[in-house]
Amino acid sequence: MNSLIVCIIKNCVANVFVSTFLYLATLALDLVIGLPTRISAKLRGTIQLLDIYGKNAEIIRVKIVDSDNWLRRNAFLFPLIISGKLSLVGISLRRVDDGDLPRDLYPYKPGLISLYFIRMSSRLAESYALDCDREYIRTRKPFTDIGLLMQAMIALILHQSKQSHENQLDIFGIKMLNLTMKDAISMLERRIDDKIHSPAYFVNADCLNKVLVDKEYLDILKNNEIVFPDGSGVNLAAKMLGSYLKENVNGTDMLPHLCELAQARGYRIFLLGAAEGVAKAMSERLLDTYPQLNICGFRNGYFDWDNEAESVINEINLAQADILLIAFGAPLQEKFIHRFGEMIHAPLQMGVGGLFDFYSGRITRAPIWMRQTGLEWVFRLIQEPGRMWRRYILGNPLFVFRVYRWNKNGRKQIF
Ligand code: UDP
Repeated sequence: MNSLIVCIIKNCVANVFVSTFLYLATLALDLVIGLPTRISAKLRGTIQLLDIYGKNAEIIRVKIVDSDNWLRRNAFLFPLIISGKLSLVGISLRRVDDGDLPRDLYPYKPGLISLYFIRMSSRLAESYALDCDREYIRTRKPFTDIGLLMQAMIALILHQSKQSHENQLDIFGIKMLNLTMKDAISMLERRIDDKIHSPAYFVNADCLNKVLVDKEYLDILKNNEIVFPDGSGVNLAAKMLGSYLKENVNGTDMLPHLCELAQARGYRIFLLGAAEGVAKAMSERLLDTYPQLNICGFRNGYFDWDNEAESVINEINLAQADILLIAFGAPLQEKFIHRFGEMIHAPLQMGVGGLFDFYSGRITRAPIWMRQTGLEWVFRLIQEPGRMWRRYILGNPLFVFRVYRWNKNGRKQIF
């Protein structure tokens, strides 16, 4: 009984603290950004009207500033947060034009910042407003809102207000497919069914640093049809170039979708790469989650290409793989596929980097809050500082600078 009372008191104190903190944060944001933006927007007349849902599906007419900057765009919402009609952090804002508010969301106040806003900013694949709102409601604890406010401040760096209609993204002359995860999977399914030779690569900021010193790797990527944009670095680059990434299509997020597809369609998967035992451990873990998955073979990634590649390829062909996942790291895997891919019968040949290390459990993946704020690289840096400091501490700023310079110089050929 006593512990119940202590728990209730603790919760009340936490709630009062969080509400006060968020109220003060709103006042500060309003003073610094909201108020000046409202004054200038009124003077310039750059305001649109929009109907959104409030708590209990109340329709609220709000003013939206015509600006690409998300905080300025929403400057007129701050007074509504201060008056209690909206929250600073809550379920996502919904336009009345987009349809009815789902009934289970009625009791919750929409917030300027939401879990959906954060995930959408980092282009986390398969993020849907309704799922995010339900997850937020289900998992909310007293300090969740402060955590989301902090995450939103980071996510703002990556946020793009506009939606993308471009199907391609060009960085350093490499054309990447700008697809949602769902469309990417459908495209791969069609190609496997039609048995089209399909080398597929993922490109992140580190890969794009490597292409500047490795012409062979650059040419492979430039001449390949299926290149997916991977990671927050590419997302940021897209923003800098005025392009808009639809979703972050990285191998680690794609694998569960690929496994579901393979399980449903009976595709055979071969795992090639990583240190001895890693592919086997990954295959066991995958089978725990996808018991009907047909993993037709696995092998480590350390062998002599000149003398042993032929027997490895025979093994893959005998196993009649439809999907070959190759985890040698970039650019080794791309070079392997480029050199030997035509000899391999599996239509889909995908370079997946360190994926096996994650899915075998050898390395743990960053928690979701880091992934949804584009900070997965920080986690990898902490895990393997000796190997990763060059890639991230030097590589990330260098990449941003190179994208800036490439854009400024008229996006000319880099070699
Ligand atoms: N690897 C391999 N054969 C090699 C070199 C590396 O199978 O000759 C494996 C290595 O064990 C690791 C992966 O390739 O599992 C590289 O992981 P990393 O995280 O460096 O790849 P990235 O995702 O950064 O391209």
